[in-house]
Order: sequence, then structure tokens, then C-alpha cells
Amino acid sequence: MTEKKIQIVIVGGGAGGLELAARLGARYGRKRHDIILVERNRTHVWKPLLHEVAAGSLDANLDEVGYRAHCRRWGYRYFCGTLEGIDPAARQIVIAPLLDEDGSELIGRHRIRYDYLVLAMGAVTNDFGTPGAADHCMLLDSRADADRFRNRLLDHCLRVSRAMTADPASDAHVKVAIVGGGATGVELAAELYNAAAALAYYGLEVFDEKRLEVTLVEAGPRILPALPEWLSDAARQELETLGVRVATGMQVTEVTRGEIVAASGERIAADLMVWAAGVKACPLPGGVGELELNRINQFVVRETLQSSRDDRIFAIGDCTSCLLPGRERPVPPRAQAAHQMASAVYRNLVRMMEGRALEPFVYRDHGSLVSLSRFSTVGSLMGNLVGGRMAIEGRLARFVYVSLYRMHLIAVHGWLRGLALIVVGHIERVIRPRLKLH
Ligand SMILES: Cc1cc2nc3c(=O)[nH]c(=O)nc-3n(C[C@H](O)[C@H](O)[C@H](O)COP(=O)(O)OP(=O)(O)OC[C@H]3O[C@@H](n4cnc5c(N)ncnc54)[C@H](O)[C@@H]3O)c2cc1C
Repeated sequence: MTEKKIQIVIVGGGAGGLELAARLGARYGRKRHDIILVERNRTHVWKPLLHEVAAGSLDANLDEVGYRAHCRRWGYRYFCGTLEGIDPAARQIVIAPLLDEDGSELIGRHRIRYDYLVLAMGAVTNDFGTPGAADHCMLLDSRADADRFRNRLLDHCLRVSRAMTADPASDAHVKVAIVGGGATGVELAAELYNAAAALAYYGLEVFDEKRLEVTLVEAGPRILPALPEWLSDAARQELETLGVRVATGMQVTEVTRGEIVAASGERIAADLMVWAAGVKACPLPGGVGELELNRINQFVVRETLQSSRDDRIFAIGDCTSCLLPGRERPVPPRAQAAHQMASAVYRNLVRMMEGRALEPFVYRDHGSLVSLSRFSTVGSLMGNLVGGRMAIEGRLARFVYVSLYRMHLIAVHGWLRGLALIVVGHIERVIRPRLKLH
């Protein structure tokens, strides 16, 4: 009789899950273990790049990782599918039916057994139930969202460019409203100006960034609340110099077709509206058994990153609620947290296989960096990296910001391939067009 393999199932191949699948696959291979990655998409794009994909400054085709090729190289198995529910009592997960483009069923609803399960499904934008937001605002949760935004942006730029050609005195503008003055909203606002400036090279000769009207709406008293006040002021100044209207202290109460409505009664008209404030985890329609969830559907975990109610289930990244002892706030939903949690769960799974006690997760906040496209980068480095807290700006900040993605490339592809991809990325930047226009 053949021995049953130990099955470790990871759901979600994003910033945390893909790194973990590669490490577990490389360590255990397929002899006595089956490392299975369940992911609803066929390719991975690192989420912090999505605002660049949305603005067109990055061609995601060049930076995406195909799961099938990646799993073959790293010794894990990839299942294309969407997690629908978890049955901890039976140690099984339920995968939704897989449909083709026409909606015909390719694979029916089925179950996958696990010995150990790692949940790494990330999170989505939280519109806090604001009326009209879900119907009228675009999101930046996935590659498809970013592509959709870019296509609509280009259409509007083309419309304005045509109006200007027909009548040079025309007052046509592309109006974009972004709700949320956190890193995503700020980075997107700056990136849009970078993209608009480049459009003149690519056929829209009469169009320039002055034709862009971006309003960044933030409910709090300042943008980038996670950064020191003077850095958030510096970022605000930089954005205003570009032409962005930064509206702080503005609570959005409703979104209608073409308008954002504030509590004060002010209405901001826009061709494109993006909701980029807050996160929540997606509820699973098939339920999660007895597993504990918080009020935004994140899985509550202990210090070891095991579910509070099940030793065999771990959760990492944005879908996790992890309040470490002595801390007032849970670990934040960031790429560096997903990366560190993936490493911690890797070590703990190895310990479990070897019958050793698990170690607690220690989160090291290396700071926050916010890219204002080619114009600037601001942020703060914290903790071990600089021996305290240090605010940084400019070239050094840009270098560290770009290094985050380089570390992800190395974690996902290994040193040799990772470094080769970094070099190829530099060459691509020189030889490719500055914008993706299709
Ligand atoms: C525009 C933007 C800019 C950002 N910039 C930064 C930054 O500069 N620095 C930073 O630290 N963080 C940044 N973040 C946050 C960062 O991207 C996330 O914290 C990080 O990606 C979380 O990693 P994760 O592995 O938990 O989830 P993700 O990377 O989101 O991966 C989740 C994966 O799970 C898959 N999935 C989801 N549900 C299911 C399901 N039911 N079944 C199967 N698969 C599923 C998804 O397709 C996805 O591949 C940014 C986010 C955005 C949107």
C-alpha cells in the first residue's frame, strides 16, 4: 500500500502565499509531501505595483509570474480555483466550480483534503457600505481592476485630446477623484501625472498633464497618517505642486454616477472615481466552520500564526488579524507583514514536521515608504534597520522602496533568477515604451 503524503495546502498565491509555496516546495519536494497552492488567478502580479499598472507606467505582462511554470520549477502543485468554504472538522476545503470564459463549468465544486492549511487570500478594499460606492467607484484590488482603470483613463484622455484638437480653446479635462489618502491613493495620484506627461510622446500630442484634474479625498485631518506629520506635509506639497487637489477632513457620504458627495454637501464631479480607503477580508460563502473571524472577516490567529481555534490552520498577510502581546494594534496589512508571516509559518511548519515546539511570530516594522512616482519618495524607516526611527525622502527612500519589490522577486525566484530579473527589468525600462497603451 502506498503511504499517504502529507498535504500542505496554501490558499492564495500573493505576496505571502507564493513565497511560502516556493520555500515549502523547494524544501520538501513531492516525495513524501504534496505542497498545493490554490489560487483563483493564473498569474501573479505583486499587489503594490497595481497603481503603476493602473496608470500605464508598468506593463504587468512583463512583471507577472505564471503559476504553472513557477510550480514546476519549485516542486509544488498549483490548482486554479476559488476557495468557497473551509470544513475544519473534516480537514477539507471546498473549491467553487471553475467556469470558462462563457460561463460553462470546466470543473465542478470539489473538496481538497489537507493535513495543514495556510490561508493567504489577502484582502479587498472596504467601502464601509457607503451608498453608491460599489456601483460607481473603481477599485485597485486586482490586475483586472488595474487594467480596467487604465483602459478607461486612456479613453478619457483620448476624448479630451480630440476635443482640444477640434477646438484649441476647449476647457476639456480628465477628472479623477480618489477616495483615501493612504499610500495607495497618494501613489496613484502621483503616478497619474507621470503617465499624463508621457502621453504626448505617444500620439496624444495636444494632451498634457495640465488636462488632468485629480482630487484626493481624505476623511482624516491629513494624508498618510502612518507617517510623521512633516513627511505627510511634504507629500501633500509635492502632490499640490503636481496639480492634485488634496481635500482632507472630507467625509464621503455618497457616490452617485459622476459625483462624490461629501458630508459638508460639497459635490466633486469626476469622470473616474477610485475607492482606495480601508481593507476587509472577503467572506467565504461556504462558511469557515468554527474558525474565529473579526468584524472585517479576517482570521484571528495566535502568536504562532495558527488559527485561534485550530492548530492545523495558519493564516498570513492581509486576511489575518494578529494582535501580538504588548502591542496595541494588530499587525498592519502590508507586503512586508505578509513576507515576514510567510517566513514565520515556513519555520513553524518545518518545526511541526520535526515534532518541535512552534515559535512565536515577531513583527519587525521596517517603516513605510510611499512613492510619488518619479517625482519623489517619502517615508520612514524604523526599528532594526536604522536603530530607531528615521524619516527619509528622495533618492535613498526611492532606493529602499524599489528594494522591497526586489526582495519579493528574490524570495519568489531564488537569488540567481531574481537578480537576473532585476537586471532584465532595468533593460526593459530603457528599451520599452514609457507607457502601456493597450
Ligand atoms: C495599489 C496598492 C499599493 C500597495 N502598496 C504597498 C506598499 O507600497 N507597501 C506595502 O507594504 N504594501 C502595499 N500594499 C499592500 C500589499 O499589497 C498587501 O499588504 C499585500 O499584497 C498582502 O499580501 P497577501 O499575500 O496577504 O495578499 P495578496 O498579495 O493580496 O494575495 C492574495 C492572493 O489570494 C488570491 N485569492 C483571494 N481570494 C481567493 C480565494 N477565495 N480563492 C483562491 N485565491 C484567492 C488572490 O488572487 C491573490 O493572488 C499595496 C496595496 C495596493 C492595492
